[in-house]
Amino acid sequence: MSSVELTVREYGHFIDGEEVAATGQIDRLGPATGELVARFAAGTATDVEAAVSAARRAFDRGPWPRLSGAERARVLLDCVAALHERAEEIAMIDALEVGKPLRQARGDVAGAIGHFEYAAALAQDIHGETFTDLENGRMGFVFREPAGVAALIIPWNFPAGIFGQKAPYALAAGCTVVAKPSELTSGSAVEIARLITEAGVPAGAFNVVTGYGDPVGQALVESPDVDFVSFTGSTATGQRIAAAAAGSHKRIALELGGKSANIVFADADLDDAVDGSLFSVFYNAGECCVAGTRLLVEEAIADEFLDRLARRAGELTVGDPLADDAQVGALISPDHLEKVMSYVASGKEEGARLLTGGAQVDGGLFVEPTIFDGVTPQMRIFREEIFGPVLSAARFEGVEGAVALANDTPYGLGNTVWTKNVDTALSMAKRLRSGSVWVNTSLDTAPQMPFGGFKASGHGREMGRAGFEAFTELKSCYIAIGKRDPYFG
Ligand code: NDP
Repeated sequence: MSSVELTVREYGHFIDGEEVAATGQIDRLGPATGELVARFAAGTATDVEAAVSAARRAFDRGPWPRLSGAERARVLLDCVAALHERAEEIAMIDALEVGKPLRQARGDVAGAIGHFEYAAALAQDIHGETFTDLENGRMGFVFREPAGVAALIIPWNFPAGIFGQKAPYALAAGCTVVAKPSELTSGSAVEIARLITEAGVPAGAFNVVTGYGDPVGQALVESPDVDFVSFTGSTATGQRIAAAAAGSHKRIALELGGKSANIVFADADLDDAVDGSLFSVFYNAGECCVAGTRLLVEEAIADEFLDRLARRAGELTVGDPLADDAQVGALISPDHLEKVMSYVASGKEEGARLLTGGAQVDGGLFVEPTIFDGVTPQMRIFREEIFGPVLSAARFEGVEGAVALANDTPYGLGNTVWTKNVDTALSMAKRLRSGSVWVNTSLDTAPQMPFGGFKASGHGREMGRAGFEAFTELKSCYIAIGKRDPYFG
């Protein structure tokens, strides 16, 4: 049960410190109920221009980039206090707009608060390098400056969570921001923008324009006044963004899709491995870029393991995200449900064996937790990102077999290993081609730990010191000490 009840919410954009009325509107029907939960502004290229101009002015002439790190940290800590006060409301907004269990949405908001806290610490720890013995009596120092105007493009699966992975780091570095949430789930971004401004981020330093990828995201990526784009979303859109950004020479960080392996060795603690494997793929209804959607299980225990896993999957509670016992919520939209169900059909057609699930649940955009066995690397359900509660299981023998199967994918976001053998654990951690590896645990994140992918899963990192430094530029300064020899003799 929640103490918060929400009526239908209406949002404008948030530009230059105030909410700006929409010229067009987008009705958001909650995916769990089909009822109207919010109305968002359908932004235009003109709205983007206004927000980018405000952010540009705030960067070039405003106070935010010029404050000391300690002053920026104090504002970020005031954001933390305000987020704590509004946490339940923001979680409820995400739960209704995404259709995710409220319990999980609460975890996303708590995660976002942790990022604001860590970013506040980083704001006070911006430092560089000094070289004292360069040729000809020169000294050199290398320091960091804010990168400029940052565009943050945020998807629908973790609206507050991914906002938290980007926004506080950008602000801590001294950037000014235009954020564009998904048109399906924009409520929490506008709410947090208001809260950030009330906490003391000056007008123009933090803006939100809501609306569709084209024109809003596209205009942001093409704008010559945006210096850096931090994008999370599909690999296809990431490629379009890389091409568009090249035209205006801006820097980009891309956090894209995945097809992560969840690898179970015969010597694993099988209770932990069953529990963790379920969580890895069915958390957030599988709408998670690092979901462990390829289960690779060692041949010797495969039948027993899959049996236990299928039984447990069948016991998960699917349905009303606001119910206390909700474990698997709704999918984001009817189109996406259709896409997920087409992958279930493809698994059957290509000869995989359905162990459990595979059907839509009555009364909403819900899909049963689904497990296929006998999946081969040529099948679409092994290769392509489904972004739904569908697990594809294949079998292997030994470390070599596991490495070969796990790395047989265009993606490289995350992989999980279950084993009690330290040599196996370390060898796998080194040989898996992915930005994250979990051993005997799955899907953990921490503000200190960078996050991002190899191969088609993107480039650049967010979170951690690396994610923070992505919002900075490096500058090298040379200083001559004393009188130097004339250049032309
Ligand atoms: P997209 O990659 O299209 O959307 C992600 C964000 O980018 C949204 O805010 C979107 O806006 C915006 N966007 C879309 N087109 C452009 C553009 N041309 N320029 C700038 N921004 C743009 O993902 P989808 O929502 O269409 O989901 C499709 C698939 O992507 C999923 O099925 C899943 O496989 C994958 N995905 C991966 C995510 C991840 O965490 N890595 C997150 C979400 C999806 P808008 O919502 O208006 O289109």
